[in-house]
Amino acid sequence: MKEKFHLLSEVPFLADLSQQDRIECAREFHWEIYPKGAVLIEAGKMPVAVYILEEGKLDSEDKVLGMVSLVTGKAATETIRSLEPVRLLTIKAEDFARILLRWPQIYSTIIGNLTDNLAETHQMLSASRYKEVLRSAIQLTRYKDKFYGIWGSVKTTHEVERLFKKLQQTEGHLLIRGERGTGRQMVAWYAHQQLFGETAPFVVLNGQRFEQQWGYLLKEEKKAAESSYAAFTFEDIAAGGTLFIQEIDQITPELQIRLAQVLGTAHHSCLVIGSIQEDTKHKDPQLMPELAACFEHSYSIAPLRERKRDIPIIAQGIVESLAQKHQRNVPVLTSEATQLLLSHNYRQGNVTELIQVMERAFFLADQDVIGLEQIFFGPTAEKIGSKINLLQWGFFKSLFKSRKLLHSLQWISAVLFLLLIVGLVFLPQLPLTMKVFVLVWGLWWPSLAILSPLLGRLWCTFCPFSKIMEFVQDRYHPKRPLPALFVKYDYLMVSVLFALIFWAEIFTGMRSHMLFTALLLLVIQGLAIIVSVLYPRHAWCRHFCPLGGFIGTASIGSLLEVRADAAVCLNKCTTFDCYVGRDGVKGCPMSQHLPYLDNNLDCKLCFKCVSNCQHENVQVNLRVPAREVWHLTRVNQGYAVFIGMLMGILFPIMVFEPLHGSMPPNQWQLWFTLTYLLAALLGGALGWWLGKPFKTKAASKRIKLVFAFIPLIIGGHIVYQIGYIPGINDLFLGMGYYEETGMQTLFITAKSLGYGLAVFTGILLTAITVGLTLHQYSKAKNINH
Ligand code: SF4
Ligand code: SF4
Ligand code: SF4
Repeated sequence: MKEKFHLLSEVPFLADLSQQDRIECAREFHWEIYPKGAVLIEAGKMPVAVYILEEGKLDSEDKVLGMVSLVTGKAATETIRSLEPVRLLTIKAEDFARILLRWPQIYSTIIGNLTDNLAETHQMLSASRYKEVLRSAIQLTRYKDKFYGIWGSVKTTHEVERLFKKLQQTEGHLLIRGERGTGRQMVAWYAHQQLFGETAPFVVLNGQRFEQQWGYLLKEEKKAAESSYAAFTFEDIAAGGTLFIQEIDQITPELQIRLAQVLGTAHHSCLVIGSIQEDTKHKDPQLMPELAACFEHSYSIAPLRERKRDIPIIAQGIVESLAQKHQRNVPVLTSEATQLLLSHNYRQGNVTELIQVMERAFFLADQDVIGLEQIFFGPTAEKIGSKINLLQWGFFKSLFKSRKLLHSLQWISAVLFLLLIVGLVFLPQLPLTMKVFVLVWGLWWPSLAILSPLLGRLWCTFCPFSKIMEFVQDRYHPKRPLPALFVKYDYLMVSVLFALIFWAEIFTGMRSHMLFTALLLLVIQGLAIIVSVLYPRHAWCRHFCPLGGFIGTASIGSLLEVRADAAVCLNKCTTFDCYVGRDGVKGCPMSQHLPYLDNNLDCKLCFKCVSNCQHENVQVNLRVPAREVWHLTRVNQGYAVFIGMLMGILFPIMVFEPLHGSMPPNQWQLWFTLTYLLAALLGGALGWWLGKPFKTKAASKRIKLVFAFIPLIIGGHIVYQIGYIPGINDLFLGMGYYEETGMQTLFITAKSLGYGLAVFTGILLTAITVGLTLHQYSKAKNINH
């Protein structure tokens, strides 16, 4: 507040206000931060706010922007952008109009400062022009672009039409009740349109801020009428049109009575529509009987979840009007997407929520189909704890933004991979082939288990399977959308494929068999290519890849993450470049829409979103490990099955591997296969039982607890893998010291140290995560009580 007051003391148009008034006025202003290149004022359009520059650089000499246009009612003559990140004190156009009405001396100071056009200044000083200015700033005729005018099924449409007819036939004010987002404003706007037409004033006031912004006008109407600036009554604000008072029950009882007196008079210069929000937060509307009696008509809008048959009709109507507006084909909503729309409860925002979901889906759909992957619901990702954004340093920024560098590294890895296959198949005797073969099993595979919990899916950044698959996909474009079945049950496919590969590796002794290894790699690559030719983006990586499933699960709690500030995405972004792509760089291969990305499972760290986002809103963060788990919301909950399976197979691989030499091979293979199969099935079933039901959008406590065991389970897999690191058995770590008896040494094998670290870290992180998850839930329970 102090900072606002200090900045406002420096702007000339508030110079004539007393200190107390300036403090009051400062409450209407808000801080906003814009990235470099943000368009604040657009030439030919009315500004939506007045901006006062506090920090940063604009391509304008002026420190105060938008004010002259709002006062003169003329559109801006030039576009103004930020040349670097800027911090601004802003006030919305309608709030600016209110402060002009509240303190007419501000208006006169502004006019006084516009000395370069005296004739116009003189003209504008007249009271009638003043009223015009105020009205144009606060009447929201832009509503016509905001609403779709789709009411839903025949029943709902008839109901609304009946109401409009009644309003046309009988005079009287209207009271609308309904939950947040049910469309009370839309009904008000269309009623206004039917009665007065689009161009008549449609003024929106808010009951919550009514006393602060309008109370004095009602209380001192007579005194105000004597003023040369505000020579009109309260109802005159919307004379000839509609005065829409949102949350009318939030007005103080004293003012409600005064308002009832004004509305109770015989002559009305405008239609008044009041709206009341009715939901769990506002169970008991406090509308005074005197005011309630002023409304001859009333209408209650049912929540969307109670009229589900309206949902597909509204959704279809939205995409149709968007398609018409943007001259695109009308996208088809798949039946699975419609089912998903029907299954949601819309408690967050009713029709408004559905509109937002459908608008987003329309712009995200790259083909003329809207499927499950384009429907994003519910809360956006939360900002959790403090993080260090690596992009704040130039080195990392150019590293992650440089597509060329990442491309080159991916190509190097793809060529090495192809050379490895050639070596394994055709030149197995070559000493180099043997060395590389040992390294693949001894270093690459264990390092996936060891490094993913720290660095996330960094392997995917350079993965040759992905590069080769993408190369083929660029030539053979996929045409069809991914079937919903694959999206719904991807965790099962990943679990089965992973269990199969692990079994094949141990059963066939693949670690010492070059041809089998080559075959396995070729099968994975072949499947990846087939999926990428059939389906868009990296469907293989997101829904099928067993390696991706493993390292994705391991990376849930990793130190590294890619995230965006959801507030910037929702309020400033209209292009969704992170999902759609830009300037030849494709959108997110994993079909992620950044404001909804809240975990690492399905982010393959390709960094395309970093270079695609025009708002510089994507961050590559270092964070506290494992913290993500107790904040999980939108995670693929089916992965509870995968986690259970990962845990289950630990038993046979730990127990049967050492018995390899002590049993006849056939017997060992049989017992191993049976135990492995049973353990994988039991583990998966346990994960499913603990995590079910998977239907809820937000992760439940049980899901979080299943995910909390990831560090321990991955620790178990690391213990298994460590034994295969070449030379690990011969490596010792120790120290020595002299004593009277001679040199004393203490040492430990690197393998034991690795085991200890993996188990200790796994137990510690799991214990912390389980503890914090339970603590969070008991805290929430206490608050609810
Ligand atoms: S998900 Fe699989 S194929 Fe895709 S990049 Fe990762 S490891 Fe490679
Ligand atoms: S990350 Fe960038 S491109 Fe994506 S939605 Fe947010 S602001 Fe838009
Ligand atoms: S584009 Fe961004 S969100 Fe999508 S996979 Fe790549 S790094 Fe992750």
